[in-house]
Amino acid sequence: MILVTGGAGYIGSHTIKVLLERGYRVVALDNLSVGHREFVLCDEFIEADLLDPKALERVFRDHSIRSVVHFAARTAVGESVENPEVYYYNNVVGTLNLLSAMRAHEVKEIVFSSSAAVYGDPEVLPIPEDHPKRPKSPYGRTKLMMEEILSDYAQAYGIGYVALRYFNAAGSDPEGVIGEWHEPETHLIPIVLEAALGVRDHVEIFGTDYDTPDGTCIRDFIHVVDLAEAHVLALERLREGRASPAYNLGTGVGHSVREVIEVCREVTGRDFRVVKGPRRPGDPPALVADPRKAMEELGWRPRYTELSEIVATAWEWMRKLYARLGRF
Ligand code: UDP
Repeated sequence: MILVTGGAGYIGSHTIKVLLERGYRVVALDNLSVGHREFVLCDEFIEADLLDPKALERVFRDHSIRSVVHFAARTAVGESVENPEVYYYNNVVGTLNLLSAMRAHEVKEIVFSSSAAVYGDPEVLPIPEDHPKRPKSPYGRTKLMMEEILSDYAQAYGIGYVALRYFNAAGSDPEGVIGEWHEPETHLIPIVLEAALGVRDHVEIFGTDYDTPDGTCIRDFIHVVDLAEAHVLALERLREGRASPAYNLGTGVGHSVREVIEVCREVTGRDFRVVKGPRRPGDPPALVADPRKAMEELGWRPRYTELSEIVATAWEWMRKLYARLGRF
C-alpha cells in the first residue's frame, strides 16, 4: 500500500488518481488545512497532521505501507516570507515526524515533493539538477533542508528517496473530476482565470522591471497530470533501486507573466483589467527546467507541451468549480 501525505491537495489528489488508475492501493493522509476531502479518490482517508506523531504512528500501525509519496506541506512563497515559523514547523518538523514513523515501521521508500524554489536566482537557464542551491524564500529553504535530511537518512538508515523538483504546476484533471482549488488563491494562472471569469476585479503583475525580455518574471508551467505521472515513474524506478536523488519536472520552456495573461485572454476569449504592481519578495526572475534527466532516466514525457492546452484544462475546471459553488 502507498501512503500519500497531502492527498487532498492539488498535486497529491491528481497523483492519487493516476496511482489508482495504475492499480496501486492507496491510503491518503491530510490535515485538510488547505486540501479538499472530496478530491481524495481512494477509499481510505485519514484526517491527521504530520505534527501529531501519535496519529502518524496509528497510520503506520494500521496499514501495511510499503512506500510513501510525501506532498503534505505549506506551499506559498509569499506567505513563507511573512510567516516562516509555519513553514519550518509544517514542512521540516512534519517531515521529520514522518521519517521517524517510517523508520519505526521499516518503510524504506519515499518520493518527496520538492521545488524549483531550491535553486534561487538561476546562474544558467535552463536549470540542471546540479545547479547551485540558494533558495530565496523560507519555503524554498524548507524544501532544500528536507532534501538534505533525506540524503542523510538515506546514508545512515538506508531509506531510498527521490526528490521531484516541480517547476510551476498548473492545469487540472482533463476529466474534470478534480482540479486546482486554493483558498485564498495565490497562483498566477487561476488568478488570471478568475479575472477572466469576473470573480476578481483585476490581475496585478508582481514586478515589471525584471531583467527579462518584457520585464516580468518567467516560469516553466507543467501540467499537474504530467507531474502525477512522474511520481508513478519515480516510485517504480526507486523500487528498482536505480533512482537518482533528484529530478527536475518542467517542460523546459519558459513563459513570462505577460505571456500567461495573453494566453489566458486567447483561451477564454475574455478581457479583464491588468495593473502593474511591485515585485513580490522571494520571487526569482526566471525559472526554467532542464528536464532531460527525468526524460532519460524515468522515461517521462510531458504530454501538455503547449501553455494554451494547460490553460484550457484549468479554465474548464474553474468554470465548473464556480458553477458548483454557485458563485458564477
Ligand atoms: N504573479 C503575479 N501576479 C499574481 C500572482 C503571481 O504577477 O497575482 C507572478 C509571481 O510574481 C511569479 C509568477 O507569477 O513571478 C508565478 O507565481 P505563482 O505564485 O503562480 O508561482 P511560484 O512561481 O511562486 O511558484
